[in-house]
Amino acid sequence: MEATKNKKRDRTGEIYGDYTIVRPAENDREWIARCSCGRERIVKNDNIWKLKRCKSCAAKLRIAKQKGRPKKDKFTEMQNWMRAKRPKFKYDVLYELDYYQCTHSCKGTLINEYRNTASFEVVECNSIDEKVVAKLNRRVNLKKKDVTALCPKN
Ligand SMILES: [Zn+2]
Repeated sequence: MEATKNKKRDRTGEIYGDYTIVRPAENDREWIARCSCGRERIVKNDNIWKLKRCKSCAAKLRIAKQKGRPKKDKFTEMQNWMRAKRPKFKYDVLYELDYYQCTHSCKGTLINEYRNTASFEVVECNSIDEKVVAKLNRRVNLKKKDVTALCPKN
């Protein structure tokens, strides 16, 4: 190798991720890099481009990201892995629902359709079943065979 190539290029002040190169290390091929939080580390010349942030900052970032993520409800979660291949139901149709916890059939609109089941929002039910429906947050999950289309909404 030529002597000029071995000579250390001054990288002081260069920025890699959250790191800034603050000074050369004792070793000719290493540098001291300082994270935005103030933590310092030694980095080899060859790895300098890989610098992102220190472990502590990475962990904080991970937690912040998790907190920022909106909570998915049970129905949305199910939608992702149980989505129906050939949807049978429509969103603008009122359905008659024979839900097993209700004494009478109730009426509802589609929330999500899965392979063999579908979830509905109950819009009308017998007063006897009100309690049950309210307890379920007005959302019921039924087998498709227990659902009958009534008429288009409106
Ligand atoms: Zn840091």
